[in-house]
Amino acid sequence: GLDGAWAIAWMRGSAAVVAEHRVELITLDRDIGDGDHGENLDRGFSAILPKLDEQPADATPADILKLAATTLISTVGGASGPLYGTALLKASIAVAGQEDLDADAVVALLTAARDGIVLRGKAEVGDKTMIDAWTPAVDAASSAAAGGESPARVLAAAADAAWGGAAATEPLVARKGRASYLGERAVGHRDPGAQSTSYLLQAAAAAAG
Ligand code: ADP
Ligand code: MG
Ligand code: MG
Repeated sequence: GLDGAWAIAWMRGSAAVVAEHRVELITLDRDIGDGDHGENLDRGFSAILPKLDEQPADATPADILKLAATTLISTVGGASGPLYGTALLKASIAVAGQEDLDADAVVALLTAARDGIVLRGKAEVGDKTMIDAWTPAVDAASSAAAGGESPARVLAAAADAAWGGAAATEPLVARKGRASYLGERAVGHRDPGAQSTSYLLQAAAAAAG
């Protein structure tokens, strides 16, 4: 199963992947938003890093997710801070008290994260937001777990589906967030939050080995 060390590795990997793709996420957001998505996430995940070093050895995945959530909420000003913060807070609650997450717990974690974003932002699939990456990821994770796959393979399935979901935002008109002000002019551009979601889930899968 996946323990607190996995959650720490996920958050470190998220910080690394966000830093690596910072300019790309800024460019995507410049096309259909205000150009700060890469900056927002880099600031938020960079602020998580020093706190991870202070965590006790017996920290659970829920402890780490809660720490990350509160840090994102307090350091990221844009829409993505409260959205990802709520996602990780709900994920933390879904796996509270568990030291070792099995495949079903990973599905519960991802589902709670997605549901938290929907609760907060009210987006549906097809609105050209990060939900277009999260929902296929949850569905793929659920199928993989039902098929008896390991937690690591459940996360890999989620990350693959999120990538496809992010790519599928390109032809869409946005109905939520800043991109919704652009109408047809958003068509042909990938949603930055959907793209960052696929990077964060790639980091989750990579941390699971
Ligand atoms: P801001 O738009 O405040 O500058 P960011 O640039 O950090 O914030 O994040 C933009 C991303 O947030 C979008 O690409 C989209 O994926 C996501 N987003 C915006 N509004 C919503 C919403 N209501 N529901 C889900 N995701 C949303
Ligand atoms: Mg922005
Ligand atoms: Mg902004």
